[in-house]
Amino acid sequence: MFDAIVIGSGPNGLSAAIVLAQAGCKVVVLEANQTPGGGASSAELTLPGFVHDTCSAIHPFAIASPFWRTLPLAAHGLKWIEPSAMVGHPFDDGSAVMAERSLETTIAALGRDGGAYRRTVGMVVQNWPRLERAVLGPLTLPRHPLVLAQFGRHALRSAAGLATAAFSDERTRALFAGIAAHGMLPLDRALTAGVGLALGAMCHVAGWQMPRGGAQRITTALVQHLLSLGGEVVAGSKVTGIDKLPPARAVLCDLSPRPLLRIAGDMLPAAYRRQLERYRYGMGVFKVDWALSAPIPWRAGACRRAGTVHIGGTLSEIAASETAAWEGRLAERPFVLLSQPTLFDPSRAPVGQHVAWGYCHVPRASTADMLDRVERQVERFAPGFRDCILARSTLTPADIEARNPNLVGGDIAAGVTDIRQFFTRPTWRNYSTPVKGLYICSASTPPGVGVHGMCGYYAAKRALKEVFGVS
Ligand SMILES: Cc1cc2nc3c(=O)[nH]c(=O)nc-3n(C[C@H](O)[C@H](O)[C@H](O)COP(=O)(O)OP(=O)(O)OC[C@H]3O[C@@H](n4cnc5c(N)ncnc54)[C@H](O)[C@@H]3O)c2cc1C
Repeated sequence: MFDAIVIGSGPNGLSAAIVLAQAGCKVVVLEANQTPGGGASSAELTLPGFVHDTCSAIHPFAIASPFWRTLPLAAHGLKWIEPSAMVGHPFDDGSAVMAERSLETTIAALGRDGGAYRRTVGMVVQNWPRLERAVLGPLTLPRHPLVLAQFGRHALRSAAGLATAAFSDERTRALFAGIAAHGMLPLDRALTAGVGLALGAMCHVAGWQMPRGGAQRITTALVQHLLSLGGEVVAGSKVTGIDKLPPARAVLCDLSPRPLLRIAGDMLPAAYRRQLERYRYGMGVFKVDWALSAPIPWRAGACRRAGTVHIGGTLSEIAASETAAWEGRLAERPFVLLSQPTLFDPSRAPVGQHVAWGYCHVPRASTADMLDRVERQVERFAPGFRDCILARSTLTPADIEARNPNLVGGDIAAGVTDIRQFFTRPTWRNYSTPVKGLYICSASTPPGVGVHGMCGYYAAKRALKEVFGVS
């Protein structure tokens, strides 16, 4: 018999299980797939010897995670690799703007926008120790209200509004827009500046790093640590109904509302069920993984130093792409987020060969094949790219949801993170449900999308307090 059962072994499910096991609970994690990890997984998607990240590739918030900082993950084989530059953003004239690990180096290269970058992104970097609890946690009384207010003044704005007001150079505006577009919202929406500021600051606070060997290594380290605490993980064990589980005092679901309703709908009060039914999912993703015979031949040489490359040219082009996906249209020139891990981690491909990972945003549940448009975008800034392709794997939004039911319509954020749904993910109760002992611990709770485990941490803390009387 178990004290607690966790459904789903994504980074949040495993983190919840670790918190419970640390408190002495006997805990098991049940995972539907044959391999644990959810959004932190790797596989040979193209050719033997080429290790691709099936979901997450770049992990600033994993390094910045206040919970994971306390875990001995390095002792379980997790080794972070820092690319020479965090983000490269190429332009049609063959130049590029770069976000470096060093704030000062980045500022120096931004010329007349350097001061504005310091006052916006730099302000978050400087204040990160006072902001991290608010950014990477649920809504609570702030410990540093003045700093939070200073951050909020910029963060609540739209990315397009802040970039245009703060920066005078189109190149700096484009750099900020590319980072903010990770938020999967049109860039004229409130709060998109907050995504740009927080993720931009992570370039300098934690680094946009990658685990040696791929994202699966994060999962392996979390699983190993859980096992060392006496926890268990059972893969290939899909839960089809909460009522079919063995008895346990607490059940924590690493699920977004739609799959949760499927397995627990009957036991939830009607009003709460309706709240979950109203939860909104956002745009989807079309993903491509490439096996390459050579590094990507960027025209802007600086992009060869970057772990991540944002392909979309100017702010207005990126904004148009994001608005199109949001409004149900396909962008002719989609904004492409690309990572090139083997430039820094040769262990993931045969000698001299490479993998690359990329995706663009598309309308929710779109069935369109965006491969040609995505590759045209890469080719635009890296002529000869197509000649390097040995093999490719593509995933439509439907494929993404089929692999993980949390990602409804291919929404990799497990729900829209706009101002209406930011503080009430997935309802005002956040991790709790009206059913005693039943909790939600997925990225559909605060602080939301990303590989950081903080949703699982806070959900488990609440379960420990309410069910086990441990604060
Ligand atoms: C294509 C893509 C790219 C991404 N890129 C990045 C990135 O670069 N950096 C980053 O930080 N984040 C990235 N993310 C987001 C990140 O992967 C997620 O935010 C994170 O994995 C959420 O973790 P989670 O634990 O909440 O849930 P998930 O990772 O979604 O895990 C949920 C688990 O529950 C399992 N499950 C579902 N239903 C059941 C059931 N009935 N029974 C048993 N098990 C079940 C699923 O199989 C899955 O393993 C990306 C996601 C995708 C899809």
